[in-house]
Amino acid sequence: MSALKCSAIEELDGQSFRQAVSLFATGIGVISSEDSHGDIHGATVNSFTSISLEPPTIMVSLKPGKMHGMLTERGSFGVSILGENHKDYSAYYSRRDLNGMPAPEFTKRQALKTLTDAIAWFECEVVKTVDVNDHTLFIARVTACGKSDTDSQAPLLFFASKYHHNPAPIA
Ligand code: FAD
Repeated sequence: MSALKCSAIEELDGQSFRQAVSLFATGIGVISSEDSHGDIHGATVNSFTSISLEPPTIMVSLKPGKMHGMLTERGSFGVSILGENHKDYSAYYSRRDLNGMPAPEFTKRQALKTLTDAIAWFECEVVKTVDVNDHTLFIARVTACGKSDTDSQAPLLFFASKYHHNPAPIA
């Protein structure tokens, strides 16, 4: 196994950390928040994590930017978990590059809007924020959630800085 210099803190550079941490495979979510004009702003995240079951609580880690400001101001947000056919959504909500595709549709399931095409969705209320260096942890209570009714709930995965699909159970 090649050394990524993680054992030598004084030599650790950002690139080594990124390469090592990219080997932790994740799903991909889109955080959504509605502004006072009813426009939806979205941001792609892979830092979405389940924190506790009772009460149901999740966390996302965000850099300063528009979404960070909206969550701080509004205190609520939606999370849409992307399926294997939703790579364009991830690109769109990370780079703002529509690339000719129509803007994704959102649906209000309970109180907040989440992507109509999502394998799972969550509506969340921020209960705590923790600033950690260049990011803020938004810890949030889940007020409603659900999953796709379709047979296929195959996820879009992010691993080694590339998109993947088709996870297979180990027999
Ligand atoms: P925008 O306001 O659109 O700004 C874009 C970027 O500009 C910001 O992210 C930030 O780097 C910079 N910026 C803007 N305003 C400020 C400011 N005031 N101070 C400092 N910098 C500023 N991002 C995360 O934060 N957390 C994640 O977990 C995460 N996961 C990702 C996973 C994947 C697979 C991909 C492709 C991207 C991920 N990103 C993540 C990046 C994120 O999707 C983009 O940065 C997105 O544009 C953020 O939207 P925004 O509205 O918050 O930022």
